[in-house]
Amino acid sequence: MVLLDQAAKLDAADPLNRYRDRFVPNEDLVAYLDGNSLGRPLKATVDRLRSFVEEQWGGRLIRGWDERWLDTPARLGDHLGRVVLGAAGGQTVIGDSTTVLLYKLIRAAVAARPGRTEVVCDRDNFPTDRYILQGVAAECGLRIKWLDVDPAGGVTVDQVHKAVGSDTALVLFSHVAYRSGWLAEAAEITELAHAAGALVLWDLCHSAGVVPVELDEWGADLAVGCTYKFLNGGPGAPAFAYVRAELQDSLQQPIWGWIGARNPFEMGERYEPATGIRRFLSGTPPILGLQPVIDMVELIEEAGPAAVRAKSVQLTEHAITVADELLTPHGVRVGSPRDSDRRGSHVTLAHPDFHTIVRHLWDRDVIPDFRNPDTLRIGLSPLSTSFTETTRGLIAIDEALRVVGGAH
Ligand SMILES: *Cc1c(COP(=O)(O)O)cnc(C)c1O
Repeated sequence: MVLLDQAAKLDAADPLNRYRDRFVPNEDLVAYLDGNSLGRPLKATVDRLRSFVEEQWGGRLIRGWDERWLDTPARLGDHLGRVVLGAAGGQTVIGDSTTVLLYKLIRAAVAARPGRTEVVCDRDNFPTDRYILQGVAAECGLRIKWLDVDPAGGVTVDQVHKAVGSDTALVLFSHVAYRSGWLAEAAEITELAHAAGALVLWDLCHSAGVVPVELDEWGADLAVGCTYKFLNGGPGAPAFAYVRAELQDSLQQPIWGWIGARNPFEMGERYEPATGIRRFLSGTPPILGLQPVIDMVELIEEAGPAAVRAKSVQLTEHAITVADELLTPHGVRVGSPRDSDRRGSHVTLAHPDFHTIVRHLWDRDVIPDFRNPDTLRIGLSPLSTSFTETTRGLIAIDEALRVVGGAH
């Protein structure tokens, strides 16, 4: 088949193809197209978890906290910041879930802008982002200015320009939209929000590990993101938070736990926040759960973030080309930007029959991600996904649509 021959050529020319061997093999897999929801495990992680249990936890026992665990959330945060987020040291920390970190940072941000009555977000942002914002708005008596965005695109600079003003306390957007894959113009949007005196929080869940992020250069105030998507941390792996250095000591997050206190082991009577990034922690950090992220950050550093982005662009372009050829005749629509400068690392396809074929695909080890009511997201994780695999997955979708099309 011509398409598979073309894909084989792209794989042969791909300088990152050899990194696929670094992942835990899965002999049955035909196409894993959901790296944007749950990345695959690295072989190095199998060894790391074993040695963590045997040597660190089993060997050092409670001494491990003093010897290395207490510093791990900030140390890994610094490494992640440097390799993936464009963040100098001392501004990134690992802990909690994205949901909880959103609450902590949104709440801290609106408290730092007293008298401002409005927060800005788009209606197509991820549900947890919208819900947490609704909760904080209710708690603090704020209005939410919801921006309507093109479902196949996302928030634009022009929209933000019109939306922000002297009432705006905070703007919250996803850098890469979870539905369309739209890549927002983060530097420009950050600048506009700052010109209005507002703070900016970027959700990096769908960009961290695949799309260049330059938090320091953008002048971003706050950011959060998952580690179980393109950072391959595993189910429920803890999230990361970034707080710009100059802001840290003027922000107070609302979950006053002992690990974020100035001196946790003093067991003092009153909470007094630590200085620096540690004040954004609350309880005992998830040391076991963050181990796999250490491996993935090392792998991205080795492969080079620019090379990872280049392959991501090529993979999504390839997926769109194949979809145009094989799937548009069935009436499938591409629901992602066609301009790769405005696209993250997944491609969204829409068709009314997708809900009936997704089970059929999963049973055949072709694993995209289905979103109600009618979309498949083709998530392409550059270090673990090949062009052949991507093509096989799209061929399987074509075949499945023929079967249900024939049954109509
Ligand atoms: C995946 C995702 C989340 C998930 O948050 P959790 O607390 O890990 O469940 C939040 N926001 C965005 C934009 C996401 O893509």
